[in-house]
Amino acid sequence: MNETKEAVLSRVFGFNEFRPNQEAIVSALLENRDVFSVMPTGGGKSLCYQLPAHMLDGLCVVVSPLISLMKDQVDAAKATGLYADYLNSSQSGVERRGVFQALENQQLDLLYVSPERFAMTDFLKILKKLDVSFFAIDEAHCISEWGHDFRPDYLSLSLIVEKFKGSAIAAFTATATYQVQDDIIKKLGLRNPHFTRASFDRPNLFYQVTPKVDLNMQLLRFLRERPDESGIIYRTTRKSVEQTSSFLKAQGVSALPYHAGLSIDERKSHQEQFNRDEIHVIVATIAFGMGIDKSNVRFVLHGDLPKNVEGYYQETGRAGRDGEPAHCGLYFSQGDTAKLRYFIDKIEDEAERKHANSQLHKMVQIAQANVCRRRNILDYFGEKYTKADCKTCDVCTGEVERIDATVDAQKVLSAIFRTDQRFGAVHIADVVVGADTQRIRQFHHDQLKTYGVGRDRDKRHWRRVIDDLLAQGCLCPSDDQYPVLKFTEKARPILRGEKTFLVLRQKESKKKAQKMAAGDYSEGLFNELRAERKRIAQELGVPPFVVFSDRTLHEIARYFPVESSELRKISGVGEMKLARFGESFLLIVRSYKEAHPDEASERGILRVPASNVRKTKTKTDTVRETFVLIQQGKNVEEISKHRNLAPSTISNHIEKLVEQGETLNANQFISPERREEIEGLFARLNVDTLTPIVEAGDGNISYEEVRLTRAFMS
Ligand code: ADP
Ligand code: ZN
Repeated sequence: MNETKEAVLSRVFGFNEFRPNQEAIVSALLENRDVFSVMPTGGGKSLCYQLPAHMLDGLCVVVSPLISLMKDQVDAAKATGLYADYLNSSQSGVERRGVFQALENQQLDLLYVSPERFAMTDFLKILKKLDVSFFAIDEAHCISEWGHDFRPDYLSLSLIVEKFKGSAIAAFTATATYQVQDDIIKKLGLRNPHFTRASFDRPNLFYQVTPKVDLNMQLLRFLRERPDESGIIYRTTRKSVEQTSSFLKAQGVSALPYHAGLSIDERKSHQEQFNRDEIHVIVATIAFGMGIDKSNVRFVLHGDLPKNVEGYYQETGRAGRDGEPAHCGLYFSQGDTAKLRYFIDKIEDEAERKHANSQLHKMVQIAQANVCRRRNILDYFGEKYTKADCKTCDVCTGEVERIDATVDAQKVLSAIFRTDQRFGAVHIADVVVGADTQRIRQFHHDQLKTYGVGRDRDKRHWRRVIDDLLAQGCLCPSDDQYPVLKFTEKARPILRGEKTFLVLRQKESKKKAQKMAAGDYSEGLFNELRAERKRIAQELGVPPFVVFSDRTLHEIARYFPVESSELRKISGVGEMKLARFGESFLLIVRSYKEAHPDEASERGILRVPASNVRKTKTKTDTVRETFVLIQQGKNVEEISKHRNLAPSTISNHIEKLVEQGETLNANQFISPERREEIEGLFARLNVDTLTPIVEAGDGNISYEEVRLTRAFMS
């Protein structure tokens, strides 16, 4: 092993830097240590095992649940220049023998297998004879009965620890719940694993919620603005999938349906056409899921409200795996909430029903609350989002308006208060509009002061106000079978007029669907590069993203590299891809440049800027050195000791890192209580400099603490 991991990252994969956690996982595996890693989709998991597999002498066995994906995964690994192959039931005997031969000759870095192989004694016997450096278990939550994708096959993986004592095990999952995590570690028998949990934030995804009025037309308008982009539209039922996909097809969109009612062959063919960029849009039920390995999905739209945040997160997570901007749009209507509630009410098991209700409530909260969507989503996963403005959701970019609905809220709250918090939403809305119902007469609610105060609006309006109050936690439904509305501590201040109540409403002006700029690049050149990518992919019989990712093509269309050495500096161009595909793409750039001299010279840059140029190891970069220690979980004091630098210098570094956009966990450096106290002082004194806060603390607050708090406030 004489090449460093940084050197391999650059030479083989063509990347400048490790993503958060990648480096630590790679190091652990190089030291033959078990790993347990929770990483969201698109986090860059494959590199975590592929890189050490390339560096270590032995074989890395990758367990992957989907046979349909294996070929693409292996093709992608091969395109990068790794020695990879797979074994599964779809192969012929001859093919399989070829793989066994390669294994015996020690020609492979990576072997992809399905979990059921581990139940086959012959396979285990062969494996025993080989030098297996480590096992990488993909989608490890499939081993847990608590998870949403339990697969009995996975249970045989618990054999690995016993049978292959000297080999490390690395388990990967994108599932966030702690119960499942513990279960995975136990069932696989991981030995004091190196544990990483990446942030669930996906900064390249833009979240938007639009009121659903005429869904098919809304979808069509959206698609018309992005004629060449790939995306997924989720709908709840087979019928609605069929209906939307035939509507879109009739309008000339290249779309196909996907749901469990289609034959296996149809499903496979539709998915493959999507993977290979032969069609642009898949309209699907949530049955369309795990099998998507496509990295250039540019949008995911939800035509109906998902049942829970976990599902919504996994589905939207399929967008933008290449790290380039992608759009997540949810079309939301109260009617959907009601429909889902109707089904939930039919669940017999009480605990299950309650759980489903609270899951739905959290989803509605994201769609409705007057808070950054991203913050709300991360909150669901127990992660605190510290930036005030994420810049990539419709709330933060001001595409929705905040409207003062205090008076409406007071009318509703007053009705609830005067009926002793003993009634549900339907009855309360009846009271406010002054309906004449049997229950109203029975309880003499027509005698109340609030009876009919909201006559000027219809019942739907008042239901919406109630939903808004629920979503913002001013009311909570009781746990009864017929839930009644109860005040929380946030209700009274609104009722008494001490606090205003703001709600979100879509701005009237029909703004274009938000399109994030993927940086400045030439669309003309990008389109030609994309066509070339598709041509090469077809020739090789692989999906286009195996050749180059959208990110790589965007960068080429931005910097116009014309020499091989320049192309090599583009992210995602390693030595193998340069050798295989470089010349074809350089030809395109050169001829485009000739045909569009103005555009090319206008760009001016024509040179990959310094920050993009592959760095030789940046030992001198003191901030990065602090960053490495932060990633190992050290706090300010520990880092300052370790580096022999003052704590104030370290907190300075942390501030810089946050400014550079690194996602750090504030709790690692300062307790939440302390932060809250100091944030309070910032707000009260209305300053943003450190000294006034330190002074106000009267000797109890240090500069470092204030600096740290401020770093995580912006
Ligand atoms: P996951 O399996 O976690 O969903 P992948 O391993 O498919 O994610 O990686 C997602 C994308 O990120 C791929 O296009 C991959 O090439 C890219 N990627 C991974 N690591 C890096 C890195 N260090 N720098 C830049 N891009 C990376
Ligand atoms: Zn936001």
